[in-house]
Amino acid sequence: MTGVIFDIKKFSIHDGPGIRTTVFLKGCPLRCLWCHNPESQSPRPELMLRPQRCIGCGACVNACPEGAIALQDGRVVTDMERCARCGACAAVCFAEARERVGREVTVAEVMAEVEQDVPFYDESGGGVTFSGGEPLAQPDFLRALLIACREREIHTAVDTCGFAPWEVVDSLRKHVDLFLYDLKLIDEAHHRRFTGASNALILANLRALAERGHAITLRVPVIPGITDDEENLRQIGALAAELGIQQIDRLPYHAIGAEKYKRLGRRYEMEVNR
Ligand code: SF4
Ligand code: SF4
Repeated sequence: MTGVIFDIKKFSIHDGPGIRTTVFLKGCPLRCLWCHNPESQSPRPELMLRPQRCIGCGACVNACPEGAIALQDGRVVTDMERCARCGACAAVCFAEARERVGREVTVAEVMAEVEQDVPFYDESGGGVTFSGGEPLAQPDFLRALLIACREREIHTAVDTCGFAPWEVVDSLRKHVDLFLYDLKLIDEAHHRRFTGASNALILANLRALAERGHAITLRVPVIPGITDDEENLRQIGALAAELGIQQIDRLPYHAIGAEKYKRLGRRYEMEVNR
């Protein structure tokens, strides 16, 4: 069983109780305007470029099996149409002007990293958090990871936007100790405008999990001018009260993702589309 991840962060203290290891799965069905991890959105590995770091050595030109890179007037030019995202260029770029984001890993490889920190989980009441991207977008991989954690008595949290068929949520919910459930906007039209999708499924899944007694922490990104208006926050609070959800975490906005959009050759819509 394999899946695609883009990071494993150790000693995390903001992704659930105690000291945790957070595993970031790649791929997300939403396109939130403010997303600060644009490299998490595509389900496949990607190439990120920092041309200002390039020293023009040409090593990447020779390493590329697709012939996608050329040196033109001392500048490296990459043909992204030909690029197969293999990462061979990044492996030889000692100036770190090229980076491959995302790698295919087995469940055993992830668990080997996770298990290194079991003493910290035990000491702090921590565990593992599966985040993304959207972890539910790789349901078989996620389920296998959750089961592997359960077998080792490691506490599990899933940080999700909730945008997945109920059948997917239902198939793995019994292996999850805590849902960190992102809730952005209650107004359906606003949700569609700022995330690219309706929130009907998200709200239905949230309700279904709450009715079945699952531990849920709501996570609300506080995005100036989008999610932070009084009416939206009041409605989220009312829904939490109705569903018996006792913890709501606010996630502050920060623009650290803007530079990543440039490295991916994309526009940061938050800057241009408001
Ligand atoms: S290997 Fe890195 S530093 Fe050398 S030419 Fe390619 S991008 Fe520039
Ligand atoms: S990722 Fe692979 S295919 Fe793409 S430019 Fe680098 S070496 Fe070439």
